[in-house]
Amino acid sequence: MNYPVIKLRKGKEESLERFHPWVFSGAVASQPDDIEEGDLVSVVSHDGRTIGVGHYQIGSITVRILAWGESAIDEDFYSCRLREAYNVRKALKLATPINNAYRLVHGEGDFLPGLVVDIYGDTAVVQAHSPGMHFARDIIANALVNLPDAGIKNVYYKSETTLPFKAQLDPHNDYIIGKYSTNIAVENGLKFHVDWLKGQKTGFFVDQRDNRSLLEKYSCGRNVLNMFCYTGGFSVYALRGGANLVHSVDSSAKAIALTDANVALNFPDDKRHTSYAEDAFKFLSSMETSYDLIILDPPAFAKHRSALRNALIGYRKLNAKAFEKIAPGGILFTFSCSQAVNREQFRLAVFSAAAQSRRKVRILHQITQPADHPVNIYHPEGEYLKGLILYVE
Ligand code: SAH
Repeated sequence: MNYPVIKLRKGKEESLERFHPWVFSGAVASQPDDIEEGDLVSVVSHDGRTIGVGHYQIGSITVRILAWGESAIDEDFYSCRLREAYNVRKALKLATPINNAYRLVHGEGDFLPGLVVDIYGDTAVVQAHSPGMHFARDIIANALVNLPDAGIKNVYYKSETTLPFKAQLDPHNDYIIGKYSTNIAVENGLKFHVDWLKGQKTGFFVDQRDNRSLLEKYSCGRNVLNMFCYTGGFSVYALRGGANLVHSVDSSAKAIALTDANVALNFPDDKRHTSYAEDAFKFLSSMETSYDLIILDPPAFAKHRSALRNALIGYRKLNAKAFEKIAPGGILFTFSCSQAVNREQFRLAVFSAAAQSRRKVRILHQITQPADHPVNIYHPEGEYLKGLILYVE
């Protein structure tokens, strides 16, 4: 294929030769005047070797490589990548009658930079993070419904908040194929209403599936506080795990309504569960119940590097409150989903909080994102979810 050529400065092909899929703007020696955001381009070294083909974008990441060497990025390309991604999920036993909520495509982790696809039963929710993926949305939608065995009938496109605002693409959230179907998804045998039309991200945080399972194992007989509960995922698992009581807290009234609906869907009239629409810090400061299992799963405190310092202070303060309040012998599940905060920095923030409380604290597990959010080994930036499970004496 003859795509417009982006030529690199001398030596700037090194990271690409180690398969890192991004070309930064500083690496570019020359590019045609008439290329537009989202165009497919061929990336060539200073001495004329073709490195790969990718989507062009204006910004610090100029090209996201889709394929190495000379390649056609067409319907076959997307079908093939999606089939490979689906085979991984099948191997993981995620696409079954007792689990039909999973991430099918995790951007660079599935060698499709700029694309996220979550599956809820027979509906695929597609998010484009790059103009190139936005323009490919119809091809991707067709490839999804034609994916053998996957049973995808509806494709909902949801990119109003994920595409770069400056690109002025004016995307609309809507069905590309099919229409509204049942929005009840199953995760490890538990049912959840997933609101992909109005909910956060694609409607559900599938990335906590394994961590919710782990929580279930620790829940028996405990007083559980699920802070930042959103859809109540951790709460429903805690109830199945035999918790003594479960309190769910979120500052959003809509999230609390979703949590209540999901609890009712699985455990109707269960008196062990109560929810509170309140601010986390306020709740933690004034709570009266003694909890011996606390989950802290806040939204990303640092969306960008510039917010890193304040984010680390936020994690320290939040965790300090939990250490101060958790009952002796309590277990704390604490998370950070900020990409800009690395594992060491998060651990240090939690460590400072523990030291401040002077409690004896053991790390039981160091946890991360599940296997359907794979990390491309050549793109370590793909690791974002960090969690610690701590035993507090
Ligand atoms: N634990 C959830 C995901 C949490 S998303 C799950 O397993 O699905 C983060 C949630 O934090 C959102 O629902 C948001 O409404 C809530 N939130 C944000 N700021 C908050 C605050 N200050 N106090 C309480 N909840 C907050």
